[in-house]
Amino acid sequence: MKVFGYATQSPTSKLAPHRFERREPRKDDVVIEILYCGVCHSDLHMARNDWGWSFYPLVPGHEIIGRVSSVGSSVTRFKAGDHVGIGCMVDSCGHCSPCEHGLEQYCEEGNTLTYGSYDRLDKMPTYGGYSEKIVSSERFVVKIPDGLDLAGAAPLLCAGITTWSPLRHWNVGKESKVAVIGLGGLGHMALKLAHALGAEVTLFTRSIGKEEDARRLGADHIVLSTDEKQMVSVQGHFDLIIDTVPYVHDINPYLSTLSLNGTLVLVGYLGGLEPILSTVPLILGRKSVAGSIIGGIAETQEMMNFCGEHGITSDIEVIKMQEINTAYERMQKSDVKYRFVIDLASLKADKKGEIV
Ligand code: NAP
Ligand code: ZN
Repeated sequence: MKVFGYATQSPTSKLAPHRFERREPRKDDVVIEILYCGVCHSDLHMARNDWGWSFYPLVPGHEIIGRVSSVGSSVTRFKAGDHVGIGCMVDSCGHCSPCEHGLEQYCEEGNTLTYGSYDRLDKMPTYGGYSEKIVSSERFVVKIPDGLDLAGAAPLLCAGITTWSPLRHWNVGKESKVAVIGLGGLGHMALKLAHALGAEVTLFTRSIGKEEDARRLGADHIVLSTDEKQMVSVQGHFDLIIDTVPYVHDINPYLSTLSLNGTLVLVGYLGGLEPILSTVPLILGRKSVAGSIIGGIAETQEMMNFCGEHGITSDIEVIKMQEINTAYERMQKSDVKYRFVIDLASLKADKKGEIV
């Protein structure tokens, strides 16, 4: 099917209007009219080929909220008109051990990403949510609880689940002491979710001036990571640290703030660590450094339902599709409170002037 959206044609080009072909729906598919799409820092990494596996044209966007416009003959969970979400994956092998355990994000054959992958059956490229509509098997579609603001719910599909999954995996609850590094899209969701789970929550930030926001978002304490005295004041304190920083950075200073058996889980930066990681605090304090990627589909639905019950959405700045390049520049400077969300109704303005 023909779809209109925004794409980038190379690591250095700007995003611009683009018409492309999506795969035709199959019998287990849901066709979704996209209403909102969050702007994740991963979109910026992918657009610029920071990870080396992007191909072009690339239509980013994996925090998708939409309305079902039609369903295939074998679809049972959705009907036209339902409000639904799609996150970072649209398929996986379905039969490996991780898939059987609801951990599709760790599929042994590799999951199919919402954009920047190839469909497992017809091998067509996948394209993301900076577009009018999307097609996905119902297995990778989540329900949006009634009452949640739709634009504010979009970032839950990536920023929400990426921070929820480690909070759940490391059993965060009322007795837990959790810290979050970096107050951006993922970081602000981590504060909200950890607070709602009952944990004592601390934000590590390098930015002066985020204290007030951080407290409003659920932080009990704020530590300026560039201030050595403040870092010393939290030595041996945390059970879990969620590190959302997108670029290479020194994680050594954070290790001594973990308690015995504590874990620092990296979710932000993908690549080799610099400077070298010292094993001394790890060995002497039985501490762990771990990593985590998004969450499974059942876990995403669990997080979405939790957010429905607790009235949790993302703090967003709604933008028009035409403002995406400025939004990327601002995100690069950490100048966003705390997630951009594209209102896809704005695409119509470009479509009107388009010569097909
Ligand atoms: P974001 O909104 O840009 O937030 C990142 C925050 O990290 C910034 O607000 C800033 O917080 C801090 N920061 C930025 N650059 C830094 C630097 N050079 N050194 C130290 N701190 C820095 O990004 P996001 O959308 O939350 O994404 C964060 C990272 O997670 C990205 O790399 C993204 O690709 C990745 N990600 C991973 C997964 C996964 O499944 N593992 C899923 C989604 C995204 P302060 O100003 O408070 O210091
Ligand atoms: Zn993302």
